[in-house]
Amino acid sequence: MKVIIVGGVAGGASCAARLRRLDETAEILMVERGPYVSYANCGLPYHVGGVIPRESSLLVADERVFREQFAINVRTRCEAIAISSAQKTVDLRNVVTGEVTTESYDKLVLSPGAAPISPSLPGIDLPGIFRVRTVPDVRMIREWIEGHATEPSGMDAYTGFQTIMPAKRAVVVGGGFIGLEMAENMVHLGLQVTLVQRGDQLLGPMDPEMARYVERYLAKNGVRLELNVDVSGFKQVANGSLEVLTQAGPVYPADLVVLGIGVRPENELAKKAGLAIGALGGIRVDDQMHTSDPDIFAVGDAVEVKDFVTGQWSLVALAGPANRQGRIAADVIAGRDSRYRGTQGSAIIGLFGAAAAWTGVSEKMLNRLGDTDYEKIYLYPNSHAGYYPGAKYLAVKVIFRKSDGRLLGAQAVGQDGVDKRIDAIAMAIQLGGTIYDLEEVELCYAPQFGSAKSPVNFAGMVAADVLRGDMPLSHWNSMENAFLLDVRHPAELAIEQAPGAVNIPLDQLRARLDELPRDREIYVICRSGQRAYYATRILLQNGFNARNISGGMLSREVIVGK
Ligand SMILES: Cc1cc2nc3c(=O)[nH]c(=O)nc-3n(C[C@H](O)[C@H](O)[C@H](O)COP(=O)(O)OP(=O)(O)OC[C@H]3O[C@@H](n4cnc5c(N)ncnc54)[C@H](O)[C@@H]3O)c2cc1C
Repeated sequence: MKVIIVGGVAGGASCAARLRRLDETAEILMVERGPYVSYANCGLPYHVGGVIPRESSLLVADERVFREQFAINVRTRCEAIAISSAQKTVDLRNVVTGEVTTESYDKLVLSPGAAPISPSLPGIDLPGIFRVRTVPDVRMIREWIEGHATEPSGMDAYTGFQTIMPAKRAVVVGGGFIGLEMAENMVHLGLQVTLVQRGDQLLGPMDPEMARYVERYLAKNGVRLELNVDVSGFKQVANGSLEVLTQAGPVYPADLVVLGIGVRPENELAKKAGLAIGALGGIRVDDQMHTSDPDIFAVGDAVEVKDFVTGQWSLVALAGPANRQGRIAADVIAGRDSRYRGTQGSAIIGLFGAAAAWTGVSEKMLNRLGDTDYEKIYLYPNSHAGYYPGAKYLAVKVIFRKSDGRLLGAQAVGQDGVDKRIDAIAMAIQLGGTIYDLEEVELCYAPQFGSAKSPVNFAGMVAADVLRGDMPLSHWNSMENAFLLDVRHPAELAIEQAPGAVNIPLDQLRARLDELPRDREIYVICRSGQRAYYATRILLQNGFNARNISGGMLSREVIVGK
């Protein structure tokens, strides 16, 4: 059996290596348009920032490793330009010489990835404007930054004032993963970074109120954020530097521009071959990664997959799904009955020592789908036992089915322990788990790592209280004619207040119940929702109609604003 694999990075390389492990006799040819196979594109921004100092560290396995360890024939700088599914052949062009050869296949795997979106804006190809996808891309960025540094030299080095050098100005266009990671890394290099984003939030897969935490944290760390900015073009000015032009008028001066506007599936080859393309532009595949031609498979960023939670088609450009899909395609080619379960979109980004992560569906996606059978909770647990030094609070949002408690999604932001909480919930979602499972799950604990009641248990307990009716819930954006009861200590009110709220501290509540109305719903607030829960329980057991406002003042900050 001869198998050709197009694309030699995440999906392609994992498919090739897995196939060899399953079938010693298969003839495997992997072709890659670029100069490298199996490189770590997820590490590219960190090479720009110098966290990964050596370019060679990004090259996970080279052609020699594939050839010697796996007996896989690799051709780099070799582009697949046409597929004849009738003849079962692929035309391959040597990118350096232009020579075209034709290879036959029994099975073909497409893992061509996604290409950066590059709108046809005036000036978009000017020198100093970069995209971040490949090792050569980041080499150019590094060389540019080094080449444009103004180091004091000669006499200048002694005069003193020349050491106060104007920092280079970088503008990042786009507030997704790559834009944010590039922004952080360029701040580390001493550049003044402005990040402009078209919409009203960063990190599109998150809900806007959770993204607010990320936006604030970036701003605190020196990234100038400009939301709701539509870039209209780029201009080179007299001294050779750039200007980023916007629809609304403001101009952002820049010495360097990084485009992180998003990616689109590389579908041209598949389209030309007549393979089915989905409505979102990805190659259509079934759960065994077959395209519409049973002998052609496709994996990775180029394919449309079913969302694990909603069952809708979706495009998710992430390394985990690409690797697993590559492995599944290899299994199926080798005669095994492996199936892809769908993509949950579990993702994480690290920024200035903090992290934002999510898994499953967002609330805004549920709203887009018209799905109203859900509830959400906000909670702010400590990352580990509060008495052990270094605990930081996490902002967590969990979304679940109102009707049966099934977990639908979770998002978290914080400086410690974000990844393990979202990973645990991701696993629960994949196993069809409910909030009641989170209540019961037994997780490892010692004070430096977590709490006896882990944030994951805690989320389950809070959500289960809601569904069992022990804690009726409300949210800042869904209150009408509310009687607001604030049960915080008066000293806390000096810092921030909810307008119109009546303050009865929790420890006085039992004695002052006669000050509260029995004919209105009472919405209870505290800082994070915990004391409000205790108060809600007191009120409910005394015959009041009470609700806890989820996340208290901490969620108010991001939902209503300060
Ligand atoms: C800067 C950056 C940071 C990232 N960080 C993360 C992260 O932290 N976490 C995460 O989960 N994901 C991250 N990703 C996304 C992740 O890298 C991709 O989801 C994953 O690599 C997709 O795998 P793939 O095989 O589909 O495509 P790729 O890994 O992109 O490989 C596709 C390859 O196919 C080649 N190719 C395309 N067309 C042809 C053709 N016709 N002939 C021959 N070769 C062709 C391309 O040159 C390319 O090298 C990041 C991506 C980038 C660019």
